[in-house]
Amino acid sequence: MQSIYGYTEDMLKKYLTDMGQKPFRATQLIEWIYRHKISSFDEITNMKKDFILKLKEDFSIDTLECVTNQKSSDGTQKFLFRLSDGNLIETVLMCHDYGYSVCVTTQVGCNMGCQFCASGMKKKLRNLEAHEIVLQVLTVSKLADVRVSHVVVMGIGEPFDNYDNVISFLKIINNPLGLEIGARHITVSTCGLVEKIYEYAEFDLQVNLAISLHAPNNETRNQIMPINKAYPIEELIKAIRYYIEKTNRRVTIEYILLQGLNDTKSHANELCDLLHGLNVYVNLIPYNEVIEKPYKRSKKEDMVTFFDILKKRRINVQLRREQGGDIDAACGQLRSKHMNK
Ligand code: SAH
Repeated sequence: MQSIYGYTEDMLKKYLTDMGQKPFRATQLIEWIYRHKISSFDEITNMKKDFILKLKEDFSIDTLECVTNQKSSDGTQKFLFRLSDGNLIETVLMCHDYGYSVCVTTQVGCNMGCQFCASGMKKKLRNLEAHEIVLQVLTVSKLADVRVSHVVVMGIGEPFDNYDNVISFLKIINNPLGLEIGARHITVSTCGLVEKIYEYAEFDLQVNLAISLHAPNNETRNQIMPINKAYPIEELIKAIRYYIEKTNRRVTIEYILLQGLNDTKSHANELCDLLHGLNVYVNLIPYNEVIEKPYKRSKKEDMVTFFDILKKRRINVQLRREQGGDIDAACGQLRSKHMNK
């Protein structure tokens, strides 16, 4: 049996026409599932009994089991969910002045091996299916009783290493009859799988792209991100340039500031040279320290100096305010703690 939450509108239409039903039933189904949030097909009132029986045979309306829920003093909530095969994943709900945003996980563990990251300490066991990513948004919205307006694909895992499921997920949550999360309110973050960036440039939803750059040259990036050995910075920048030209969209560059490693004035200037003339927005991120890792957060004054250099050289930049620092909000920390118990 398949989860109904993994079906895009097109897939539902195909299923319906294959069984001799009218394709408009797809829109009705989507409304029942995501608007009325039914937990059984029996709750549907505008379809024939035998059709509902067929739906029950073919689809499950599954749920995620919430293992723990941590609440931060700033309103951030972190959920630990158990999947049907017993694997654990994390999902974060953040409260902003513009609405609620959910950060979703795309894989059980991660194989990218970024040195500073807690997620990568547990290798990838498997990809999440589209429905397991959709369910994170739906379940968090239900449990916290909020309307989710923004989604960031920045939890555990590398979304472009699970490309097809992530694309289905994006189509499903964007559907205006369903969760209706605006494409411009969705951001997918990648550590830089170059060929997928080219593929993503052809994707027709106006979803935002963020790149985890974290270093302005190959020498520094090689030290902290093994992916850089497969796709060095020149190739990554070339792909970003192509993506911008193709989509006309601004790309977000994520840059974690790590003390003594990538946060000097010379790194800042090198970053400006690298990004010169590109339509990008740089997000400087204070590092969330991970006990098992040797890296330290940059000093406040170094972060400000770094920011000022970018600003002065007319790079669009912000120094991200931190959320959920008191609840293991760094990627993978909660899951890793729980598994070590
Ligand atoms: N694999 C994707 C998405 C998941 S990580 C990617 O690499 O972009 C989401 C973001 O959190 C990345 O920019 C990642 O580098 C960053 N990150 C990981 N660990 C962190 C930590 N301890 N503190 C701050 N940011 C972290």
